[in-house]
Amino acid sequence: ATPTSIMVGTGRGAELGILFRKGEALQLLKNAKAIAVDKTGTLTEGRPALTDLEVLQGFERAQVLALMAAVESRSEHPIARAIVEAAQQEGLTLPELTDFESITGMGVHAIADGQRVEVGADRYMRSLSLDVTVFDSTAQRLAAEGKSPLYVAVDGKLAAVVAVADPIKASTPDAIAALHALGLKVIMITGDNQRTAQAIAAKLGIDEVVAEVMPEGKVQTIERLKQAHGHVAFVGDGINDAPALAVADVGLAIGTGTDVAIEAADVVLMSGSLQGVPNAIALSKATIGNIH
Ligand code: ADP
Ligand code: MG
Repeated sequence: ATPTSIMVGTGRGAELGILFRKGEALQLLKNAKAIAVDKTGTLTEGRPALTDLEVLQGFERAQVLALMAAVESRSEHPIARAIVEAAQQEGLTLPELTDFESITGMGVHAIADGQRVEVGADRYMRSLSLDVTVFDSTAQRLAAEGKSPLYVAVDGKLAAVVAVADPIKASTPDAIAALHALGLKVIMITGDNQRTAQAIAAKLGIDEVVAEVMPEGKVQTIERLKQAHGHVAFVGDGINDAPALAVADVGLAIGTGTDVAIEAADVVLMSGSLQGVPNAIALSKATIGNIH
């Protein structure tokens, strides 16, 4: 491509809300064979809400919600806000909190009201040697509905299963159809539960799911996908997407995402919608494709 055609393409991108931070990205995008996409905040709104809370005998619903909300009030994860908001809506007073700790990709724990409280994924509970099988059928039903099940333990005893649901962005289904129309494979990468991810992927017609990925696992996943598919672009919004954005052939950040993701990306989609990805690829093909 000539410097002039890249300038024209970059200018056209800006009009469409697609910021090419590197001219090279405009040239590379047309070669993409697969698009890997982060789930939370990219395919979904990134604003989950609490939908279910089921406590075991010996525990009181409002008390468990207050304890877990107290712990989550210190976390910056989108899940945390959902739980804190639910407790606020029920008018609960949050107990005093000390010794908060967040374990990336797993969950959070603290001492609330003198009790040790743990909140997190099933793998977090297993790492604490807590058996969650009593909730297996409930968790499977919740996950099949596209909700993310989480567990709460109080003083070393399993207390409750909780679900949060994050709505799919209205623009996502058409964007995936447009990527398929361009002949691309669409792959979802998420730290969320396998079944939940599968349910959401099935609804969206996504081709491949890589779930329960720890934050540092996103980079390895992109490297594996490059081997399997050739040129791979990655789309993400979160702090933990930044390394994967850097390692992909082209990294595209959702413009409403975190600064860290935007800094690491080659392309920024100002619309905040996945539709920017097929638009950017079409632009790459139109600008670069017919020059050779
Ligand atoms: P993702 O944002 O894609 O779900 P993360 O690595 O941030 O990926 O989290 C992976 C999983 O760890 C979450 O789906 C959730 O089950 C659990 N988790 C992480 N942070 C929290 C938290 N603050 N409260 C409860 N669970 C959490
Ligand atoms: Mg995200």
